[in-house]
Amino acid sequence: MQKSINPISGKIFNTFESHTDKGVEKIINSTDKAYHSWKKTSFSTRSRMMQSVSDLLVSKKEDLAFLMAHEMGKVMSEGIAEIEKCAWVCEYYAQNAESFLQNEFIETQFTKSFASYQPLGTILAVMPWNFPFWQVFRFAAPTLMAGNTAVLKHASNVPGCAMVIEDLFREAGFPENVFKTLLIGSKQVEKVIRHQAIKAVSLTGSTPAGKSVAGIAGRELKKCVLELGGSDPYIILKDADIEKAAEICAAGRLLNAGQSCIAAKRFIVVDDIYAQFLEHFTHAMNKAQFGDPCDEETTMGPLARADLRDELHQQVVDSVKKGAEIVIGGEIPVRNGAFYPPTILENVKPGMPAYDEELFGPVATVIRVKDENEAVKVANDTEFGLGAGVFTSDLKKGEQIAELKLEAGCCFVNDFVKSDPRLPFGGIKESGFGRELSAHGIKEFVNVKTVVVK
Ligand code: NAP
Repeated sequence: MQKSINPISGKIFNTFESHTDKGVEKIINSTDKAYHSWKKTSFSTRSRMMQSVSDLLVSKKEDLAFLMAHEMGKVMSEGIAEIEKCAWVCEYYAQNAESFLQNEFIETQFTKSFASYQPLGTILAVMPWNFPFWQVFRFAAPTLMAGNTAVLKHASNVPGCAMVIEDLFREAGFPENVFKTLLIGSKQVEKVIRHQAIKAVSLTGSTPAGKSVAGIAGRELKKCVLELGGSDPYIILKDADIEKAAEICAAGRLLNAGQSCIAAKRFIVVDDIYAQFLEHFTHAMNKAQFGDPCDEETTMGPLARADLRDELHQQVVDSVKKGAEIVIGGEIPVRNGAFYPPTILENVKPGMPAYDEELFGPVATVIRVKDENEAVKVANDTEFGLGAGVFTSDLKKGEQIAELKLEAGCCFVNDFVKSDPRLPFGGIKESGFGRELSAHGIKEFVNVKTVVVK
């Protein structure tokens, strides 16, 4: 049985019968069968259907946001924005997939030689609960447009979202079995990866889950794309607009109640402006109104599950035991629901969870450094490499730090990192490998076929 539990009431919101091994086998065989006709459809046919999904998403955005609010606690305004972004990525690939996958002609001694991008078959997606629609659509839109079919194993706490996504593709006119949801637990993933009809796997989730999936995919010689955790550093330099930087940093930390892989997590501030930044940052973090995600004045909902909230609190407690100091927050509120307050920790050092680990909630780590060089060193002193930011009024210097010095897949100057259908997205180090979105993303699950005519 797969069930979602409302993170405010603690009551069951949705239940679905899990798929048995036999049911899974049947679904995978059906997506494999569907692949053989889907791959022959024209780009214009696929585009028309993908555009219909985009339109449907827009027309249902309130209902879908309501579902997220009840399954994982996302505030309505953020849920609506997430659905609009899903509509955007569908439209983006509906309009651009064909040109991204045009044959590339290469001059040789032969009559003709070119690279052609051919689909692979059925691709497995293992997805997390934090952006239950966006994570799936940013995988599905390019993957299906390239001519593949897909099966989704969504996080076990959002089965309602998982089923609705399958329904959306059906309602938009996609042929039956081009996109299917598998209601299974993580233990059944290995068997799915090993299935001969599964040609590749994309996982967005934690680093341990990524390592497990990569190990199995590696032994099966199946390609994988891994979008994993992050502990994104944000450097605030002396010449930054401090008040603005503090506001952007707080917004980047608190989005989705801090449960984002690319949330701003460690704030590395040079000595001269440390006190000033901390004051503005504290003010900005304190402005968050946490409460029922369906109330209009709420800007931050609960965490998705009580166990995740307790894990986060333990990381705070362990960091404090090792010498970190709480500036604000740090205590579980006395009220129903998996809430955690905006929290700032300072005096954070290596060896503390707040320095070494990902904090998946509204907890910010502020680290004082003497200068820019030390800031870059501390920023890169992490096993992760997903996103990073730098705040400075010297745009040239900011660009240089972003391009050449920060070890991460996405580096922003004077803003927090956001995914965007037009820009490649992904990480390095323990944040994974491969890219989603843009022209890069659609080329992950294709056979780059060389064709030569003598
Ligand atoms: P998670 O526990 O790794 O779960 C993610 C998905 O993987 C779920 O569907 C889960 O299934 C499945 N899973 C877990 N362990 C597995 C295993 N050993 N083998 C196969 N599948 C497994 O992560 P989460 O707690 O849902 O999400 C938070 C993490 O995701 C954070 O670390 C965050 O940074 C990362 N994330 C990364 C990105 C990115 O783009 N880089 C985006 C969003 C989130 P069950 O639910 O059934 O356990």
